[in-house]
Amino acid sequence: MSDDTIKLSAIVIKATKSGENDKMLTLISQEEGKVTVLAKGLMSLKHKSKSACAPLCYSSFVLKKVKDGFYTLISAELIESFRTLSEDVVLLSYGAYFSSLAGMCVQSGVGADEEVRLLLNTLYVLCKRPDEAALIKTVFEFKIMELCGIVPEFEYECPCGKEGSFFSVSEGEVRCSEHKTPEAIPIHKAQIQLAKYLTESTLKDALFCSCDKRVSFSLSSVTEPFLQYHLGNLPNSLDYLHSIIEKF
Ligand SMILES: [Zn+2]
Repeated sequence: MSDDTIKLSAIVIKATKSGENDKMLTLISQEEGKVTVLAKGLMSLKHKSKSACAPLCYSSFVLKKVKDGFYTLISAELIESFRTLSEDVVLLSYGAYFSSLAGMCVQSGVGADEEVRLLLNTLYVLCKRPDEAALIKTVFEFKIMELCGIVPEFEYECPCGKEGSFFSVSEGEVRCSEHKTPEAIPIHKAQIQLAKYLTESTLKDALFCSCDKRVSFSLSSVTEPFLQYHLGNLPNSLDYLHSIIEKF
């Protein structure tokens, strides 16, 4: 391999049409974080790397460097396609949201080993436990927060010692009615209990826990405003996911 050629294991988080026959790929890789790749001729049916470059595919890429963070595709070999997800519009929407959220938390030129592993493990479990998609989403959101260094704490009491019934989005903690912040949202005991368990557990325990589906689903009222506040934005794929969940 020449100096400007690199090999990466990466997940395709976005693939957009570029010109007549090309695609622009956004990947997140263990080695180089987020990278943009121009895949010339990828729209052609005969392109040998086509199946390895679809969204959500985890593949081994050989790339030629153009400049920092920007490459052209030489070849790609599929490692894992997560086909179960691409066959179901709801699961695919969850997968698209997870990958775009991970993409927001990964930088260019900085290795993203943990983020890539978190995304891969989450997608694997989503294929295995499709009925638990809402729980898996909540777990993914909590664990990506941790990797971004924004860690909410879930205790039953406000720091003043009184029973907590609000979650302060800005402070990332449970507060009583007297000490709630203006943007705080109501939170009930079952939600605190599950959020506390999920944030304190290992990824595996959290992804495989059995809990009340209504409670895991309801935690999006906590995780989404928290991510929105601290990341400053949320991926458009979340709106799409909400519209799909409502339909099905
Ligand atoms: Zn208080």
